[in-house]
Amino acid sequence: MADTKNKVSKKKAISKKKIAAKEKVVSKKKVTVSKQKTTPKKNTNTPETSFEDFQPYVEKKGEEYMNSEQSEHFKTLLLAWLRDLQEEVERTVDHMQTDASNFSDPNDRATQEEEFALELRTRDRERKLTKKIRTSLTDIESGDYGFCEVCGIEIGIRRLEARPTANLCIDCKTLDEIKEKQMS
Ligand SMILES: [Zn+2]
Repeated sequence: MADTKNKVSKKKAISKKKIAAKEKVVSKKKVTVSKQKTTPKKNTNTPETSFEDFQPYVEKKGEEYMNSEQSEHFKTLLLAWLRDLQEEVERTVDHMQTDASNFSDPNDRATQEEEFALELRTRDRERKLTKKIRTSLTDIESGDYGFCEVCGIEIGIRRLEARPTANLCIDCKTLDEIKEKQMS
């Protein structure tokens, strides 16, 4: 496919590559969705506040950090994320129950067991994440959200939008990771 068009300019070729890469990602996504055919599609009960298409916060000039508008923004974001996660958990449970006794062939069963192990790990991750999100929501209520747990500095809007459950500033986080590496 690619070698039929040798004469395209380099620039074009690159942008084509990019598009191809994008398409790859999209088709990958599709595969994951179609795999869960027994479960409802994601969009059926996720309204406009869905975590994926969340609008980034636009700060006004001189705006106070973590004012009510900002904490409300992150509260909505965290709640939307939590809801998405809970739906995901329900789907996983559904999937495991539906497929549990479908295979008599040992090879199929082995594949099935691998799939279950993967799903259990996913659920473990989901559980941990749920706990983190709930802690963040409690922090919003108490006014601690958005400030580093160790040094008290502002974590920052952009970092929080990338990692809404962050409870350390980037410096303390980095230090933490270094310490962890040395311990292990
Ligand atoms: Zn810090």
